[in-house]
Amino acid sequence: MLAGRSVVEHGRRNGVRGQIQMSQQTVAIVGAGLGGFQVASVLRDLRFPGRVVLVGDEPHAPYHRPPLSKAFLLGTTEESKLGMRPPTFYADNRVELITGKRAVAVDRAHRKLALEDDSVIQYDHLVLATGARNRPLPVPGTDLSGVHFLRTVDEARMLRASLGHVKRAVVIGAGFIGLEFAASALKYGVDVTVIEVANRPMARALSVPMSAVFARELTKMNVRLLFNTQVMRLVGEGAKVTGVETVEGQVVPCDLVVIGIGVIPNVELAATCNLDVQNGIVVDEQLLTADPNISAIGDCAAHSSAHADGIVRIESVQNATDQGRCVAGRIAGRPSRFTAVPWFWSDQGDLKLQIAGLTAGCDRTVVRGDPAGTSCAVFCFRGERLLGVETVNRPADHMAARRLIGNHVSLTAEQAADERFDLKQPGAAAALSRPSQP
Ligand code: FAD
Repeated sequence: MLAGRSVVEHGRRNGVRGQIQMSQQTVAIVGAGLGGFQVASVLRDLRFPGRVVLVGDEPHAPYHRPPLSKAFLLGTTEESKLGMRPPTFYADNRVELITGKRAVAVDRAHRKLALEDDSVIQYDHLVLATGARNRPLPVPGTDLSGVHFLRTVDEARMLRASLGHVKRAVVIGAGFIGLEFAASALKYGVDVTVIEVANRPMARALSVPMSAVFARELTKMNVRLLFNTQVMRLVGEGAKVTGVETVEGQVVPCDLVVIGIGVIPNVELAATCNLDVQNGIVVDEQLLTADPNISAIGDCAAHSSAHADGIVRIESVQNATDQGRCVAGRIAGRPSRFTAVPWFWSDQGDLKLQIAGLTAGCDRTVVRGDPAGTSCAVFCFRGERLLGVETVNRPADHMAARRLIGNHVSLTAEQAADERFDLKQPGAAAALSRPSQP
């Protein structure tokens, strides 16, 4: 922990609001999701003495999204358990939480943030943690009742209430959220069909061998997977959805539809104040925008990563959490480059998928374990460099992979495939002595 005095000194040295003492500073955070919450909470952990204002447009205090498609949907976690902290946390820690209000404009010259009710927050540092929103499906019929998205607790609550009463569901999009929903819906005895334009599940994120494991196992669970096709329209009787018609003219009957075709980053606030936006708010290696008083983090931010070529925008709990920590640290006088190893997980029935690293651009995969079973790992290489590792039901391999990638150590294809080669052994990484290429 930093003492109050050293916080002030660091703040002066690193130029966070020039010569103004930290106790007089205001940090305004737009977006009361995971990233925004993390900034506020870590600022207090680091004894940042100034004002912290956390503004969210949802009518809730910050809550965890991952259970929405898993435990909450299944009814094994209640809404009251989703909050990131108890309601008293905010007042106890002097975090001014404003819910149900949208931030609508930033006046960079005067460092003012305007909210939709015309109130104005004068900030010294502004953090944009605006996340992402559901990508709409541009076909007729999406306004029928029984058609759902799954991003917010309000959407999840409606879905959960419907699940007990429906027989057939269609999921549009075989991405993480759609497939997590599908696996959860099966537990309610719902017959589930997934329609996907690509030729395999989670095609944007997974290697071909790992997609094959999930395609096979989801089919075994009785999820019906329709690949290489697109939705033409949703059909209904009266105002209620009754089916999904594909471009081939096939109508899949259903009484519930979940659209899970990805998200759009919320960049409008940044764009309207002329910050650089390229599929995300562009930030540097310390997560600062071109304006030294504005940072961006989480699902809405695009950063250049040591673990990828060029700029990436990552949608994961790890990314929002670690980026929030990084920005809070800088504001509190502990600046650092953002270099965290990206990792991700998805639970689909009894399958726990974990991904360490970023595998885009991989040109070779090596499978460890039996891909015909439900426990294996896929090592993704580009040339000699290990880009990332996908595992299913292999948490120990996942942890080892995070260490290997974090230490920029690669291994040979033979070692990756050889189950006798211990990835976890202390010193195993060093003994491999093959640094991955930058
Ligand atoms: P968000 O959580 O989206 O928060 C942003 C907040 O800002 C939102 O509340 C938004 O309404 C608000 N906002 C936007 N604009 C404004 C404005 N102008 N004014 C005020 N407020 C504004 N990740 C994993 O790693 N593993 C998982 O298993 C996993 N499961 C998931 C399951 C579901 C159903 C969902 C939806 C996501 C899941 N994720 C998972 C992804 C993870 O939850 C997100 O990557 C993470 O929440 C991103 O945090 P964030 O703070 O960047 O954005």
